Amino acid sequence: MIFKKIPVHMFEKFHNIFSGSTKNTFKICRKCGGACEHKKVGTLLPGEKEYMAGKMGISVSEFEARYLDILEMDDGTQIYVLKLGELCPFLNTETDRCECAEFKPLLCKIYPLAFTVKAQKIKFMIDNWCQLSKKKECRNYFETAIPLFSALPVPPEWFGYVAGYDSLCFDYD
Ligand code: SF4
Ligand code: SF4
Repeated sequence: MIFKKIPVHMFEKFHNIFSGSTKNTFKICRKCGGACEHKKVGTLLPGEKEYMAGKMGISVSEFEARYLDILEMDDGTQIYVLKLGELCPFLNTETDRCECAEFKPLLCKIYPLAFTVKAQKIKFMIDNWCQLSKKKECRNYFETAIPLFSALPVPPEWFGYVAGYDSLCFDYD
């Protein structure tokens, strides 16, 4: 399946509206030790590699070669993810900061907001595994991303593929 790309201006708008952090976010993440950054599967939305490559001023093919891997589904559908490995290629290990913070993948930006797909219904929820979920202020803040993310023209099938490989193939612990 080839997904219709989400237009670049929609990614830009999302980042302008939702910063993905509160005054406590970085402090909590640092204390947690960046658990979600280890062996993380950072999935890009359709059209997101074009958006991110544009922000970096490099070609999409160069962006792919430097930062991405491709997960190929049983039916040949391809899903782009940040290079698999111990740590994300955008994580600066000296500062613990994300080097693409202003234009990071939206799934990174909204986490601990995550989703499940059951009977083709997409349900958003806060991932209780993440330390940010323990702080009410953070929970409430990340829940504000639900209507914003739901408004993006993400192909419903894309959610199905991502929910499928996410729960089947990777052990985050
Ligand atoms: S698991 Fe949660 S608290 Fe820990 S680094 Fe990731 S987002 Fe931050
Ligand atoms: S892109 Fe940034 S937020 Fe996402 S996994 Fe990499 S370092 Fe973390």
